Amino acid sequence: MKQAKEYDPKAIEEKWQAVWQKEGLFRVSEEKGREKFYLLEMFPYPSGKIHMGHVRNYSIGDVIARYKSMRGLNVLHPMGWDAFGMPAENAAIQHGVHPAVWTRENIASMKKQLKRLGFGYDWDREIATCDVDYYGWEQWIFLKMYERGLVYRKSAPVNYCRQCRTVLANEQVEDGRCWRCSEEVVQNELTQWFFAITRYADELYEYTSKLPGWPDRVLTMQRNWIGKSYGVEVDFPLEKSNSLTIFTTRPDTLYGVTFMVLAPEHPLAVTLPLGTPYEKEVLTFVEKARTQDRSFRADLALKKEGVFTGAYAVNPLTEQKVPIFVSNFVLAQYGTGAIMAVPGHDQRDFEFAREFDLSIILTISPEGGLDPAAMEHAYEGDGTMVNSGIFNGMNNRNAVPAILDYLEARHIGRRTVNYRLKDWGVSRQRYWGTPIPIIYCDECGVVPVPYEDLPVVLPLDARVEMVGKSPLADHPEFSRVDCPKCGKKARRETDTMDTFVESSWYFLRYACPHHNEAPLDREKVDYWMPVDQYIGGVEHAVLHLLYSRFFNRIMHELGFVGVREPFENLLTQGMVIKDGAKMSKSKGNVVDPDYLIERFGADTARLFCLFASPPEKDLEWSDKGVEGSSRFLQRLWRLVMERAEELAKVEPAIVMESADGEVSRLLHVVHKTIKKVTEDVERFHLNTAIAAAMELVNSIHKFLEAGRTDREGMQALRGAIDHLILLVAPFCPHITQELWTALGHEGLLVGCPWPVPEEAYVREEVVTVAVQVNGKLRDTVEVERDMDETALKSLILSLERVQRHLADRRIRKVIVVPNKLVNLVA
Ligand SMILES: [Zn+2]
Ligand SMILES: [Zn+2]
Repeated sequence: MKQAKEYDPKAIEEKWQAVWQKEGLFRVSEEKGREKFYLLEMFPYPSGKIHMGHVRNYSIGDVIARYKSMRGLNVLHPMGWDAFGMPAENAAIQHGVHPAVWTRENIASMKKQLKRLGFGYDWDREIATCDVDYYGWEQWIFLKMYERGLVYRKSAPVNYCRQCRTVLANEQVEDGRCWRCSEEVVQNELTQWFFAITRYADELYEYTSKLPGWPDRVLTMQRNWIGKSYGVEVDFPLEKSNSLTIFTTRPDTLYGVTFMVLAPEHPLAVTLPLGTPYEKEVLTFVEKARTQDRSFRADLALKKEGVFTGAYAVNPLTEQKVPIFVSNFVLAQYGTGAIMAVPGHDQRDFEFAREFDLSIILTISPEGGLDPAAMEHAYEGDGTMVNSGIFNGMNNRNAVPAILDYLEARHIGRRTVNYRLKDWGVSRQRYWGTPIPIIYCDECGVVPVPYEDLPVVLPLDARVEMVGKSPLADHPEFSRVDCPKCGKKARRETDTMDTFVESSWYFLRYACPHHNEAPLDREKVDYWMPVDQYIGGVEHAVLHLLYSRFFNRIMHELGFVGVREPFENLLTQGMVIKDGAKMSKSKGNVVDPDYLIERFGADTARLFCLFASPPEKDLEWSDKGVEGSSRFLQRLWRLVMERAEELAKVEPAIVMESADGEVSRLLHVVHKTIKKVTEDVERFHLNTAIAAAMELVNSIHKFLEAGRTDREGMQALRGAIDHLILLVAPFCPHITQELWTALGHEGLLVGCPWPVPEEAYVREEVVTVAVQVNGKLRDTVEVERDMDETALKSLILSLERVQRHLADRRIRKVIVVPNKLVNLVA
């Protein structure tokens, strides 16, 4: 056997990447009548270097893209950059480099890395959200939303990070801390812009049951975030002013309301105590509680602090006076910002009642009853209604609709639906973002920038420093502007938009990235949308995916997209972990993909990520795993290259009429492997697909040992090797292309049709049939699949063990379950 040349990943990878680029292999356009497949991975933030999480996410995507291309689909596989955001600004502050320069340099180096991994993107569609071509259209969309009342301005308490000196969205607060820098978050009052996402709360909620291609886990997280609950709003008359309205999901406890509690932010919290002896104490308390972090206040273990307002409401059902308190445990963001307290049946209310010595009335009694004075916890279970007027004696759950009817008939309350979802505050006091296209005029008030004056370009000469407001506020040429309405001196909004706005519609813009008459080109968008497969981290299960669903609806209503939901199928891949923890700089357990590529090559890096675990599970880094992947590719290389010249002269065949013995066995394995790999790729079981290909390599080696150098044998060998290469191609595109070419094929693998198995070969040729006598297992026999029944019967009757068990008894009946079982009834 002749010595084959060594496997040199670097040389062959660079060679084929250059070919792909030259041929524009992944460049696509709309082809009417040809089925499309839009494959999208979440675009990266240009931090400067790709990490193993990216390698994994994009390797999964690339397998699917190449596979779908081989299946003949017109595959859109774009890539771009979520390029606005705080790290660029932080780099500017720390290293004195302009965010624009920093971002561009990072994009260039990451793009090089992605190319070096052999990912097949249509780079002609590359988007960087910091390009004015992109964010200018975002301003246009903002103005359209403003026209429709979907954007509004209000003063609201906001999460504020003193370290980053910026407002944070609720989603950016993790356990009361800033998601970026972990500084404790405080509350500030600020006038800002909001997107009215709550108007879509019900639809966004209801559609979660119409997304069968999404993981249940993500749908549950979205549902919980939107937080739809059915309940009732009840009006409690006040002594002084009109009434205090609360929302409750538990009308069956209304008769047990013994006090009420306001959030410190509730307007009545400061007006009720005015002129009473409690005024000063309440105002001091409200001031203090308002700056406390919300998630801290929502903590159930929090010590309940509160003050009496001096005012009373009337329980509309019992007509009893109930005192009104202000407490930090009620949040303005939920319901009406006021609650009715039922200490008998709510643990939080119970603790507050004990602390302030308030009365406890039970309205639901468990079997055997309860003594309120002896209770150590609220009773939160079901039971029989007591102390509840005409509802006494009913089961509490059955009483709910009756109480709701009663409240509505007397105009005391209304059935209602409540959502946990709040409107999306998008103002950021930051520089590196999309300027909000609004002008403030002393005469005219809020004036939207006229469409013809768009885009509002982010000036590149702003001084970026760590200050409490946007650097744009210190940029007179930017902030000073003439009012478009009256012409008098006015000033621009100097806040920029939350970067989550950019990532909420980029998937639409990929369909028409160079369109310059509108944000989107309807015809192109309609060809490509919806995204057939979206792939990204589960950490985006709530914010990014919910905002994108919201934005897609807006673009649908503006007439730019035909579909209501943007993502047909979603795959959320697991994390990459090392030594038991997620890879992160702070933990010092980061593996640099560059090292992996330099040492082993891109194909090994890809193969390791895909083989080590199924996509949705966490991937544990292992040096052994990487070496194993590398060894497999070496083995594949030698298998082909050691006999490439010889094989190149043979016609491949995987279907043969007269195949026998080893040849037949090999052909069956080939077809079964095609079937297995196809099914596994379709289900994203990429690791088991690779395992099946590795098995095929073993089978080919076994075949070689049999020494079948006859014409049939060589044709089958060539057929098996050709198909092995086709099956591995989406996973390891470089080595397979090199081997394919070495075998004398012309053309690129992405253009080759994906193999289809022959059913006749996929089935096992031999089956094991159980032989029973009077229902008892007596023997098993290996027979040809689908053997003729008469032949099968006579074969079984000729078996010695069967004869022994029959012992001359007469056979009355023979029951045959084809390919499985023969039962002789004697
Ligand atoms: Zn921070
Ligand atoms: Zn004006």
